[in-house]
Order: sequence, then C-alpha cells, then structure tokens
Amino acid sequence: MAIAEKPPASQETAKRITKKLTKKQRALEIFDRLTGLYPDAFCSLDYETVVQLLVATILSAQCTDERVNKVTPGLFTRFPDAKSLAEADRDELEILVRSTGFYRNKAKNIQGACQMIMEKFDGEVPRTMEELLLLPGVARKTANVVLANGFGTNMGVTVDTHVKRLTYRFGLTKHTDPIHVERDLMKLLPQPEWENWSIRTIYHGRNICDARKPLCGDCTLVDLCDRKDVDKPKSPSKNKSKNQPKSKSKSATKPATKARKKDSP
Ligand code: SF4
Repeated sequence: MAIAEKPPASQETAKRITKKLTKKQRALEIFDRLTGLYPDAFCSLDYETVVQLLVATILSAQCTDERVNKVTPGLFTRFPDAKSLAEADRDELEILVRSTGFYRNKAKNIQGACQMIMEKFDGEVPRTMEELLLLPGVARKTANVVLANGFGTNMGVTVDTHVKRLTYRFGLTKHTDPIHVERDLMKLLPQPEWENWSIRTIYHGRNICDARKPLCGDCTLVDLCDRKDVDKPKSPSKNKSKNQPKSKSKSATKPATKARKKDSP
C-alpha cells in the first residue's frame, strides 16, 4: 500500500494554492495525486463472475470489503451462479451471509435479484443502469460498481461512505447525499476516470482520511483540500435549550430506516 508523502506546504500556502485553481482543476489535480499514491488500486471485492460481483456488492452495504471477502468463498462454493442463488434455501443463504450484517434483507435481495436475472434477463446480469436498478437491493452505487468493474462501462460515479466523506471534505461538493455528490463529481471529472476516482478515494479514506481522525498532517492533498468541517468542533443543536429534557427523535424511533433503502441491506 502506498504511503502518502508529507504535505508540501503550510496551511497558509495551502490556502493560496487552493484559491488559484478552479474547482475542476482542483478535482483533476487531486485525482492525479491519488493516482500517484495508489497507482494499482482496484476494486477490493473478490469475485469471478459478474453475478458474484453483484452479490458481493450487495453484501458490502454497511460492511467492510474485508468481511465480505471472508464470506463469499463459502457462499460461492455452495451457490456459484444466479440459478443456484435463485433456487437456494433462504435459511441456508441467511446463515452463509450472516456475519455481513443485515443478513435477512441481504439474503432476500440477493435471491430476489437472481430470480429476476433468471426470469427477466435470461440468466445474465443486465448491462444498463435502467435495468440494473430494477433488481431488488440495487441502487446507483451497486449498479455503478457492477457496470464499471463487471462490464468496463462508466455510467456514473460510485459514491460509498468514503467517496461521500472525502469529496465533501475536499470542497468539491456542498452536498452530503450520494445522489448529489455523484452529480457534482460527474461534472468535474472525465467519464473514463469516474470509477478510478472512486476506487482511489476509497483507498485514501481507508489509509489517511479517516472519518473520525483524518491525518491531515500526513496527507499529500492538504494544499488542495478545503478540509471542510474537519477542524470544526461539533456544535450543540440550535433548537434545543440546555435544560430541555431529551425527547425521542424520529431517527431514534426508526433505526432500521437506512437499512431498508436500496443499496443498503
Ligand atoms: S481532510 Fe485532511 S486527511 Fe482528508 S483529504 Fe483533506 S487534508 Fe487529507
């Protein structure tokens, strides 16, 4: 794994460099440096067929690729293709994917997607965004991963938690929802590099730009990065008085909502 070089500039110099460049120029420069840092970056999910890539990507929601790669050898030995997954005993499927979390939903989506592949797409994973989005458990993130890594087609930018966080911190988007982050990135980056951006940004998120403790002092992108919200302490909610008793928020009463979304298990 490549190690980031020491930052070349102080914070003041960093600000000046950032100000000179347009957002697009900055995005391209960030991409060039990420490419230098992680020249051999690749999709870190293990798979042998496009169906297996689809299944591994569904399993990777709310789970690390490392964990998914521990589960898929056993899963694909028992159920190697869309037909066997479509006909699998659901209980057995759930047991096999259990350690990836949200296993009931994931097993249901994997089976539903494979059944649709068998019934509607002649046993082949569809090759268009529109068709992929018809599959249970597949939203744009999963579809982008499958299209780019399975078919070599960049129809969008894969936006996972790392891509979302880093693109925001870079100051290349003001949004925090994946759809808008993806749209902003599509405007800034050349289409052939869309998936390469995602893969390399994910590497940098894992190695340097941690969600809680970004290592800005060791980051070679510091002169290009807005470091948005990185230094700001969390402010208390403006709407709550200090003495107000805690009440149950909507999100607190619906913890499973996220997991029901497409691309989430
Ligand atoms: S926030 Fe810090 S660690 Fe993350 S990319 Fe920017 S400079 Fe690097």
